[in-house]
Amino acid sequence: MYDLIVVGAGPSGCSAARRASKLGLNVLIINKNQFPRYKPCGGALSERAISYLDFPLPNNICERSITGARIHFGDLSIEKHKDYRLTVTLTRSIFDQFLLMKAQETGVQVVFNKKILDYCEKDGLVKIRSGNEIYSSKYLVVSAGAQNRLLERVRGRDGKDQYGVCMVTEIPDENSAIDARLGNALDMHFGIARMGYGWVFPHDGYYSVGIGGLAKDMPNPRKVMNDFLKENGFAGRYKLRGHLIPYGGFDRDLGTSKVLLAGDSAGFVDSFTGEGLAYAIRSGQLAAQTISEKLEVEELDLAKSYKSRCYAAFGEDLKYSLLLARIMHRRPDLFFKMLASRSDFLDKFLEIPAMKGTYKSLIRWLIPRVPGYLLSI
Ligand SMILES: Cc1cc2nc3c(=O)[nH]c(=O)nc-3n(C[C@H](O)[C@H](O)[C@H](O)COP(=O)(O)OP(=O)(O)OC[C@H]3O[C@@H](n4cnc5c(N)ncnc54)[C@H](O)[C@@H]3O)c2cc1C
Repeated sequence: MYDLIVVGAGPSGCSAARRASKLGLNVLIINKNQFPRYKPCGGALSERAISYLDFPLPNNICERSITGARIHFGDLSIEKHKDYRLTVTLTRSIFDQFLLMKAQETGVQVVFNKKILDYCEKDGLVKIRSGNEIYSSKYLVVSAGAQNRLLERVRGRDGKDQYGVCMVTEIPDENSAIDARLGNALDMHFGIARMGYGWVFPHDGYYSVGIGGLAKDMPNPRKVMNDFLKENGFAGRYKLRGHLIPYGGFDRDLGTSKVLLAGDSAGFVDSFTGEGLAYAIRSGQLAAQTISEKLEVEELDLAKSYKSRCYAAFGEDLKYSLLLARIMHRRPDLFFKMLASRSDFLDKFLEIPAMKGTYKSLIRWLIPRVPGYLLSI
């Protein structure tokens, strides 16, 4: 019998578990597979995400310090750097294992190789089912990623314009070749998929290469990925992995009186860049704080209070990143023409992952500078 069971040991689950345990709750994490586990990801952890951690990020986890971006659209290409760090790149299996260790050091218990199939709220408790086994707790945090039955119980299925599909692979190369090709820039290729892009991110001894875009407009993501690999000079045979990604910025239900959704399960992903790690970490922490408060204050409306905390922390960022993605993908050709002639757009965009600027201020800056019909979405 636990105060809190967390389903999913990714960044949102470990952040929820660590914060809850530090607040004195008795916490169990259940994950469907053993850790360390592979997670399809570009592996870019923003300064925003790092600022949410309540412990330092060890240097040996950070593979590269990223200071800029190279953006492509067709033949247009533009690169800008800041004199400060925007993100680091890292390997998700290593980072996630580290976050799990940080949760365990506070006393959190962990069970691996149990897939949670369902739950019900009964006699003031949440009963969580894996095969024939039932776990009981006072509260449940669902942090089981982008697609699972538990999240659908709370907020239903996403509509067809609310999620994307990604393909990703890791391609080894010498660090000297990676330096020569990209240095400390993230390489982003727009125009290959609606509401998405292709990427080549530099890591330690490999590139993360992938594509993502609106699922309903990409019937054959594997072909889009293979074309992208060829166009970027990657001629080998690679193991490709697919994954769904929710678009953030939509108004979704985030819980019930006993259950909260965090991270991808809540749909907390930046619709313009696909960044989800910062919001996974922060929403996990906020879920834990809200549950801890609910244990003290019975009349607290758990789901409502959690939703308003999430909105206050990052709701505007997700809303305006969705708006920017819609503006840009409406007429990417015109948008990029403008971008190529106004390098200050990219300059302002790069401030966002370092929390020195916001999507809202970027859009305010854009309004007088782009043709009105681009904004009428
Ligand atoms: C291809 C791709 C590239 C991305 N690149 C970036 C990037 O560069 N930077 C960035 O910030 N974000 C990126 N994201 C988004 C980021 O990966 C997610 O936002 C982040 O992983 C969300 O963390 P989470 O803890 O909510 O879920 P996850 O990391 O998905 O963890 C969920 C955990 O739950 C477990 N689980 C699932 N179902 C069950 C079940 N029924 N029972 C028990 N356990 C279960 C899984 O095994 C997993 O360990 C990318 C996403 C994709 C798909």
